[in-house]
Amino acid sequence: ATMPPLLSAIANAGRHGVLIKSAVVMEQLGQVDAVALDKTGTLTEGTPRVTGIRPLAASGLSEEELLRIAAAAEHPSEHPLARAIVDAARTRDLRIPVVEDFTSAPGTGVRGTVDGKAVAVGSPARLLAGRADHSAAVEAARLEDEGCTAVLVEVEGTPVGVLGIADRLREEATATVAALTGLTGTAPVLVTGDNPRAAARLAEEVGITDVRAGLLPHDKVTAVQELEQAGRKVLVVGDGVNDAPALAAAHTGIAMGRAGSDLALETADAVVVRDELATIPTVVHLSRRARRLVV
Ligand code: ADP
Ligand code: MG
Repeated sequence: ATMPPLLSAIANAGRHGVLIKSAVVMEQLGQVDAVALDKTGTLTEGTPRVTGIRPLAASGLSEEELLRIAAAAEHPSEHPLARAIVDAARTRDLRIPVVEDFTSAPGTGVRGTVDGKAVAVGSPARLLAGRADHSAAVEAARLEDEGCTAVLVEVEGTPVGVLGIADRLREEATATVAALTGLTGTAPVLVTGDNPRAAARLAEEVGITDVRAGLLPHDKVTAVQELEQAGRKVLVVGDGVNDAPALAAAHTGIAMGRAGSDLALETADAVVVRDELATIPTVVHLSRRARRLVV
């Protein structure tokens, strides 16, 4: 027997390195008329590197001490920023102490006890909210203006330094945004937990004008719901734990597989296994073609 069109489309998507979880998903993909893209790990390669280590003068810490504390707190996290920090510490052959009482807050950062002290590592905007710590905020803004994601390190509630982390845009990001714009008639929306400066800089580079930055996981859901209430069928593409609620809320959710968190991979309707962003417009196209053959 010849294969039904949706099943052969699934097989075809598989050859492109995209795992489509059901025939229903394969069919829904073709209905999509709006796209919301995550930034870190989705439009970027997801292998960011530490490019700046700035202990605050008042902390008395050296660069290596600052990095060592941050790496300890980040060690259990699967976030790409966490991996960058741990890798930087390993590259410098630093001994990373064991963290106790580790907790992570998606879109914000991590907390734990290192060397008997309470350490927090994460978004300066969130950790410094409502507080006046001039030197930490200035250092963070300086790194963000350089295109970095700034990560604040606190010990016992006091900011001790800022790390600058930079990630490369995926080679195929601009072409993929253009292809998705062509398929849906509108440019994708950027939904990111990262800071507005770094987000705006990257959006401009890839041809996105609608930028929603500084979002928590539930804000990404709200952004999707707003589009759906306006009558759109939204495709969400993301990789992180922080993207899982939006992947679930979307008409169709696709997770980036290589750097993707387990939760994102489980929640999404489809997974880009081969880590090529350009396969996303391809599978939308495959779905549309299969749907034409079905009806
Ligand atoms: P994106 O939506 O671009 O993928 P995330 O929501 O994963 O970004 O992260 C948003 C922000 O939250 C980061 O830019 C960072 O400031 C902070 N953050 C989240 N997890 C961590 C972590 N493990 N370590 C440091 N910062 C973190
Ligand atoms: Mg991400």
